Amino acid sequence: MNKRIPLATPTVHGEEMEYIKEAFERNWIAPLGFNCDGFEIEMAQYLDGGKTQALALASGTAALHLALKLAGVQPGDKVFCTDMTFVATVNPIVYEGGVPVFIDSERETWNMDPIALEKAFEKYPGTKVVMLAELYGTPAKTDEILALCEKHGAILIEDAAEALAASYKGRKCGTFGKYNAISFNGNKLITTSGGGMLLTEDKAARDKALFWATQAREPAPWYQHEEIGYNYRMSNVVAGIGRGQLKHVDEHKNLKEAVYRRYEEGLKDLPLSMNPYLEDTDPNFWLSCMLIDEGCAVDPMEVMKVLNEHNIEARPIWKPMHMQPVFAQNDFISACEKPVDEDIFARGLCLPSDIKMTAEEQDYVIDVIKKCFEQQ
Ligand SMILES: *Cc1c(COP(=O)(O)O)cnc(C)c1O
Repeated sequence: MNKRIPLATPTVHGEEMEYIKEAFERNWIAPLGFNCDGFEIEMAQYLDGGKTQALALASGTAALHLALKLAGVQPGDKVFCTDMTFVATVNPIVYEGGVPVFIDSERETWNMDPIALEKAFEKYPGTKVVMLAELYGTPAKTDEILALCEKHGAILIEDAAEALAASYKGRKCGTFGKYNAISFNGNKLITTSGGGMLLTEDKAARDKALFWATQAREPAPWYQHEEIGYNYRMSNVVAGIGRGQLKHVDEHKNLKEAVYRRYEEGLKDLPLSMNPYLEDTDPNFWLSCMLIDEGCAVDPMEVMKVLNEHNIEARPIWKPMHMQPVFAQNDFISACEKPVDEDIFARGLCLPSDIKMTAEEQDYVIDVIKKCFEQQ
């Protein structure tokens, strides 16, 4: 193919420009304004009918950082954290001086294993915060994890950065934790070019996060500061992109699912499986991934190389955090003799999942993958 087939790129529709235009026409480029307010209200409405309180921020990472501050993480505190995830799940723990303890995945959703989490609570009783990421838009074993948090008096923070529009037993991801984060980074389900939101039902917590996100300015006639703050708010122009994108969030999810189903069908005769999910959940299928069967000699990095030679972008599975040099000192807890996530990392591959990819283009991707298996 002459045209590169990307992993995932922004898909825009036109309404975004209407909101941006309005911001320009009203000379409301800054400060915060109607697009931020509108985006927050519309997102909360979309997620759970407006029960959650949304705070629009400059990134999903900023949302996670403020969530950890709200949870009261202090220097030296351990935080149980998803091991196989993007590093942005973990970094904010370290910003606060917290110590991530990484928890292995299970095989049914590739997310945090409740059995390993239970082991972690036995090893480190009194741990107060659990950071759960939902990998590739697939809901985790949420009931089990919530039950463990409740049993041990821990706060759940949900990193739903990849899981907007996904749901677990009919309830949307991003509403299960006490504090939750979503992201609008460039390749997420919807994008603002860059941005994120903090979500919580606790109005006072949302107000406190807003205070920190705007340089912790005390209510005084002069600039009065009694705490350290941040410049974390989303701009009114950027929020306009988000409002336009949000109108298409379910459409994006449906197109993502169609991509997944075409891989499922097209690759069904090969010794591999697709990223799994539980029956009573509704993933957003942000990225379609394949897992090569155990014992099959095909190397996913070789498949990635061949795809790239055909101008097709694929990516490795997130490399587990306990394998990262920067976290070499951190503990990792698994319920299995051989860590599950190391195995998924070794046999898995993220496939192009752009919703603008045509059926013909995807057939071409499938054909190239098939050829990699024929040569074995
Ligand atoms: C994208 C992502 C983030 C961070 O979001 P940004 O908006 O890029 O800061 C956090 N966690 C996970 C799992 C992500 O995929």
